[in-house]
Amino acid sequence: MPASNSFDPYEIRKDFPLLSRTNRGKPLVYLDNAATSQKPKSVIDAVSHYYERNNSNVHRGVYELAEDAENLYRTSRQKIAHWLGVSAEEIIFTRGATEGINLIAHSFAKHHLNAGDHIILSEMEHHANIVPWQMIAKSIGAEIQVVPVLSDGSLDREKLSEFLANRGASLLSLCHISNVLGTINPVQEIIEEAHKYGVKVVVDGAQAVPHMRVDLRNLGCDFFVFSGHKLFAPMGIGVVYARNELMDKMLPYQGGGDMIDQVSFSGTTYAKGAQRFEAGTPNVSGAIGLGKAIDYLASIDFDQVDAHEKNLLQITREELKDIDGLLEYGSTVDKAGVFSFSIAGIHPHDLATLLDAEGIATRTGHHCCQPLMQKIGVEATARASFSLYNTREDVHAFTDAVKRAVQILG
Ligand code: PMP
Repeated sequence: MPASNSFDPYEIRKDFPLLSRTNRGKPLVYLDNAATSQKPKSVIDAVSHYYERNNSNVHRGVYELAEDAENLYRTSRQKIAHWLGVSAEEIIFTRGATEGINLIAHSFAKHHLNAGDHIILSEMEHHANIVPWQMIAKSIGAEIQVVPVLSDGSLDREKLSEFLANRGASLLSLCHISNVLGTINPVQEIIEEAHKYGVKVVVDGAQAVPHMRVDLRNLGCDFFVFSGHKLFAPMGIGVVYARNELMDKMLPYQGGGDMIDQVSFSGTTYAKGAQRFEAGTPNVSGAIGLGKAIDYLASIDFDQVDAHEKNLLQITREELKDIDGLLEYGSTVDKAGVFSFSIAGIHPHDLATLLDAEGIATRTGHHCCQPLMQKIGVEATARASFSLYNTREDVHAFTDAVKRAVQILG
């Protein structure tokens, strides 16, 4: 475990067993953190321990083992709520951010938006924050309005203000941090503005929670979603935060066990609160792993994490600045540690293949942001994304390999 308040990526790395493996026979340099993060040993152990000592279905058993599982599951929900500055009753467990947005679209928007209402999105959204809204908009006859991205990767605030002030404006769903551009949207300010017009705000926090402490009461959003796997926790667990008053107005979109109060063929009543949205056996081990990831992060100073990741981005830029034809996407002043780029005349997949041969894991493609790719006029970019366990040496390995690749491919 990292020592309290001292942030040292070299020490932190030791907590992540996977980082010591090789990739194509070379030491692994893992720079695909925006896709998923690696897991600390404490999280891996918590999941194994659950299956070795505590596995039982929750909500139903009267025996001690079932109570143990129930207590662990409940404690995790409380830890997550506390971490986000909200109450446990406002936390719904999902499979991830994608399921979370689908849940909000089906359980809230479908019942509270009307034909002709506007759902406001932006050009920098992940498909997970586009497609569910398109599906709902189509079914209720709502209209989607898209806020443009400016050339530095920031949101066109003027256009956003115009959309919010429109009579039909009903709901805004926006990423906190873009997974391609690294843009950190000023969500608190935007939420305040949206609320003046009675517009509900969904924040897609998938890329924010691994890099900054997010206090949801301060932020003031109506809904917030994220995925555990990007926050050093297992895959298949995620969270929807729904403000209490809104949770009461939502209707379940999946039916089954655990989400009911009474079932009969003449009619069924639903459980109260978050449980109404958690049909079927939940991902108990995932929730426990997520609670453990939060325990792990609790001792880390996120201001230092933020400064560290931004410093890695700065070093990357410095070391690659002399490459002809290199274009970085996203140049807002306060951007997260995501370096999306292209090099004229070189296909990103060819570049990533050469990097892979040197042990370096980066991602290329549309990053589930095809509308953004259309906007910036490319089919794909290469992307290196940093996390708290990356070091300057990782960056040097990456930039040296990029330079060698350019000599081969250029
Ligand atoms: N939103 C953003 C901004 C993301 O980066 C991602 C994952 N790349 C998602 C949503 C979807 O997350 P998941 O696939 O874990 O549901």
